[in-house]
Amino acid sequence: MEKSLVLERYPKYRMDIGIEVHVQLNTKSKIFCSCSNALTDQQNQHICQICAGYPGVLPVLNQQVVEFAIMAGLGTNCTVSEISEFDRKHYFYPDLPKNYQITQNYFPICKNGYVMIRLEDGTEKKIRINRIHIEEDAGKNMHSDLTGESYVDLNRTGTPLLEIVSEPDIENAEEAKAYLKALRLIMQYLGVSDCNMEEGSFRADTNLSVRLRTNQTLGTRCELKNINSFKFISDAIEYEAERHIQAIESGERIRQETRLWDSKNRKSISMRSKEDLADYRYCTDPDLALIRVTSEKLQQVKHGMPELAYDKYHRYIRVWGLSAYEADVVTSDIAFTKYFESAMAIYPKKSVLNWFLRDVLGYVNDTKIELAACLVTPEKLAQIVKMLDENLINNTAAKEVFEIVAKTGQNPEHVVQDKGLKQIGSVEELEKIVKNVLSEHASVVAEYKSGKQNAFGFLVGTCMKATGGKGNPKIIQEILKKHL
Ligand code: ZN
Ligand code: MN
Repeated sequence: MEKSLVLERYPKYRMDIGIEVHVQLNTKSKIFCSCSNALTDQQNQHICQICAGYPGVLPVLNQQVVEFAIMAGLGTNCTVSEISEFDRKHYFYPDLPKNYQITQNYFPICKNGYVMIRLEDGTEKKIRINRIHIEEDAGKNMHSDLTGESYVDLNRTGTPLLEIVSEPDIENAEEAKAYLKALRLIMQYLGVSDCNMEEGSFRADTNLSVRLRTNQTLGTRCELKNINSFKFISDAIEYEAERHIQAIESGERIRQETRLWDSKNRKSISMRSKEDLADYRYCTDPDLALIRVTSEKLQQVKHGMPELAYDKYHRYIRVWGLSAYEADVVTSDIAFTKYFESAMAIYPKKSVLNWFLRDVLGYVNDTKIELAACLVTPEKLAQIVKMLDENLINNTAAKEVFEIVAKTGQNPEHVVQDKGLKQIGSVEELEKIVKNVLSEHASVVAEYKSGKQNAFGFLVGTCMKATGGKGNPKIIQEILKKHL
C-alpha cells in the first residue's frame, strides 16, 4: 500500500493525526447501576431509574470497570493514577436523559502511555497515548421514515466505555490503520471488550490536520466521527488531507469542525463546528467518590495481565523461530493465537505451524466458519501432524485424515485405522515390494542403468502404487537405490 498518494503529490506537506477510540467494556452490568450490559433486540429492557436518569438517584461505580481501565492502561504502557475522579459533561440530546454524561475530564485514570505499531515494511513506530478515561455511553435515537416519529432506546445508556486518546503522532492512513489494529488487539487480548467495529464496541474518531513540513505548529484540525471500518478510515484520511491542502494552497482558512464520512460518495461532510471545551461546563460529579488505585491493587492487576500480541509476536520469532510474516498472521487474531498455542502445547514442532497456516486457516477461510467451530481442534491437528512426522502416515494420507476430521470431527487415529491409511513403513515389507517391481520391470532397470534418469521416477511411482499409496516414498527411494 502507498503511504499516502496525496502526500506524494504534495511533498511539501505532512499530516498530523490523533485518534480517539471509544472501547465498550464487556462487563456483566452497566457502569453505575446493576442493569445488564448485554445486547438485546428489545428496546428499553435493560434500564432502571439510575441509567434512565431519574432525579434523586445515586450512581454506584462498577469495580470491574476500574479493573478493566487499569488493565487497558498497563497494556498501553500508561501511568495509572493513584487518584482520579468523575466529572459531568453537560450537553442536551434526547438520548442523554440526565443532560450530562459522567466522564473523567480533569483527572483521568491513565496517562502518558504508548502503543507500538508495525508497518507493512516491518518497521515499528511508537504512538504515544495522551490519556485513557472512563465514561458512560449514551442511548440511541431512532427515526422512523414511515411515521416521521423519533424514538429513544436507553438500553445503551450507562454502558461503560474507555476513551483512549492518542497524541498526534500518526502521519498517514497506513499508520492510522496499524494503530487501530494494534490497539484493538491489546483490548481483545486483555479481554476487556469484543472490539467489534460493526456493532460499535470499538469506535474511532480521527482528528487530522495538515501543515507545511517547515511549520513547527500544527494546522487547524478537523474531526472525523465514528467511521466503522479500516477501509473507510483510510479513504477519509486521504480525502481530508487533499481537502486541507487545497484550502491552504488557495489561501482559505480551515474551520475547526466535526465531519462525517459519506462512504457511498467517498467524501466528508461538515456536521457541526466544534464546540469550545467551555460549552460543556465540566464540573466534578458530587455523587461519586474519587477512584483510588492503591499500589496493592495495581500489583494485583499487573500479576494477572496476559501476554499481549506485541510480546507474543517477538517471542514466536525469538523462541519458536517463526518468520516475521508467520508471527504476524498468528498474532493478528486472538483466536489464532489460542489455537496455535494449544496445538504447540501438545506437540511443540514447527510443522504444526505450517499445518495451521496452510490447512486450518485455509479450511476455515474456504468454508467460512469461525476457527472455534473448526472440527479439527488443536488436539486433533497435533495428532495428525505427529503421526505424519513419525512416519505412521504419509503426506497424502495426512491430508485425507485432515479432510475427514474437518467434516466429521472423528478422532484422527481412528480415521487412520478405519481407512487403512497406515503407512507401510517397515523396511522388510517395502524391500519385498521393491524387489518384485524390479524383477517385473527388468527393461526399465536396464534403461535406468544406461543413463535414463526418468526411469527412476517410474520405478518409484510403480512401487508406491504397489503399496496402495501407503508406502513412504523416501524409504522406497533409498531401497531402490540400494538395489539398482
Ligand atoms: Zn440501570
Ligand atoms: Mn467520549
